Amino acid sequence: MKRIGLIGGMSWESTATYYRLANEAVRAARGSLASADILLHSLDFSAVVALQKAGRWDLAAEMLADSARRLERAGADCVLICTNTMHLVSAEVQAAVSIPLIDIIHETGATLSRAGYSRPLLLATAYTMEHGFYADRMEAATGFRPLVPDAEDRAFVHRVIFEELCAGRVDPASRRGFEAVVERGRAAGADSVILGCTEIGLLVRPDALALPGVCSTEIHAAAAVRFALGEAARETVTWTDNAKLRERVAA
Ligand code: GLU
Repeated sequence: MKRIGLIGGMSWESTATYYRLANEAVRAARGSLASADILLHSLDFSAVVALQKAGRWDLAAEMLADSARRLERAGADCVLICTNTMHLVSAEVQAAVSIPLIDIIHETGATLSRAGYSRPLLLATAYTMEHGFYADRMEAATGFRPLVPDAEDRAFVHRVIFEELCAGRVDPASRRGFEAVVERGRAAGADSVILGCTEIGLLVRPDALALPGVCSTEIHAAAAVRFALGEAARETVTWTDNAKLRERVAA
């Protein structure tokens, strides 16, 4: 089994999910006592957020590139940036190491394409929804760009991510708010929804929304395990918890 390197802590609430999902997937593939071989470098999220707010993506890129180098030196065979937002600097991180970076945008796009969706609604931080890097790279990978909610809904989603989910709070009122945002996305013509922030799965289930949902955390963790176990695991290790989508891909 290959060793998975995780750049985590952004936030640690979702990194804990990566850890659980990767281990559950290895157990499912290899038996009850098997577990994933993982190196985790967990960053101080407050330092990352300070750079995001200051628009210092150059310094954030250096911070994450340094983390990737540490993981490579420690023996990781691949590296994952455990957040969608920080894929804004994924090219710099990949350039810093010779091991492959498993890209959350690419993996999410591939999942949507396999399932036959092409008008996904993107729920994510304002950086991810508004900066352009995510839509550009999804289009390069799949040929389609995600839709985003209107300005008011984007502000709501961004606020819940940083003030609640990354701070360890799950509020049922916010869950209802997310459900309403997805409903409006459906009315606007979306055919699916991307939980494009690694904490959103803590609030809503991807298969309990007005649109078929894909969870970026599940997809990314599953991709890491497929890499770790090799091609033979490609069919058995998928996102772990989304029965509707699995059926659609299988059909
Ligand atoms: N984990 C979140 C994401 O997937 C947001 C935290 C961050 O700003 O990195 O985008």
